[in-house]
Amino acid sequence: MEKATQHLVNHGIRPSVQRVAIMEYLMKHHTHPTVDTIYHDLLATMPTLSRTTVYNTLELLHSHNAVQALTIDSRNVHYDGMMSPHAHFMCRCCGRIIDLPMHSDLPANPLPEHVSRVEQIQLNYSGVCDECNKNNC
Ligand SMILES: [Zn+2]
Ligand SMILES: [Zn+2]
Repeated sequence: MEKATQHLVNHGIRPSVQRVAIMEYLMKHHTHPTVDTIYHDLLATMPTLSRTTVYNTLELLHSHNAVQALTIDSRNVHYDGMMSPHAHFMCRCCGRIIDLPMHSDLPANPLPEHVSRVEQIQLNYSGVCDECNKNNC
């Protein structure tokens, strides 16, 4: 079975052609794309695809914990198919989002009072990327 198909099945999602294509896209592109970016890129090979389908599929994948929906950008939701714990850095000049390492037991080990389980950690950095820095942003 293809990696993307297996990933969907493992998360209890029925692997339709469009779901597999979107999951595959996120596994190949570690660029943290938005709904619009994924829609425009996939449209070339899937002309019947609608933006609503992409949006609904991403919501479904997220609700099954098959993808991450990033909170780093207040204007857009960015999606991430890399599920191992990592932090994100967003450049305030060009807006690109770069993966950073993160220790998975941060910041809640041991668990504080009243917390029985942590299911998601998002650690966000912002600043200026090396390319923008060269261009004196
Ligand atoms: Zn930049
Ligand atoms: Zn990431």
